[in-house]
Amino acid sequence: MSFCPRGHEIRSGAQFCPEHGAPLFHECPSCGTYWRTGPIGYFGRGPANFCATCGQPGPWVSREDRVLWLKDRLDTDLDEATALELRELLDRLAAMDRMTIARPPRGRS
Ligand SMILES: [Zn+2]
Ligand SMILES: [Zn+2]
Repeated sequence: MSFCPRGHEIRSGAQFCPEHGAPLFHECPSCGTYWRTGPIGYFGRGPANFCATCGQPGPWVSREDRVLWLKDRLDTDLDEATALELRELLDRLAAMDRMTIARPPRGRS
């Protein structure tokens, strides 16, 4: 099973998404573990939003979910430098939200 970076499964042995032309992936780009599937909505299944092994978000994960992910990571025992870096990232994301408030949350820039 391959996944489009837009967040859906491709069943054939394609290298690119027939819908979006995006290069497909099967493994977590961060830790190399096979990317898992999970339930989507009530009926569907699709790629899991986060890597089950290292917690890396998929490329389709919305900014809101990424912000929550970063906040959750701050609660784990990170070293101080990483925690500081994540806090700065969150501040920057919050500032971006204020500037781009009229844009749809899933849009890509
Ligand atoms: Zn696609
Ligand atoms: Zn991973």
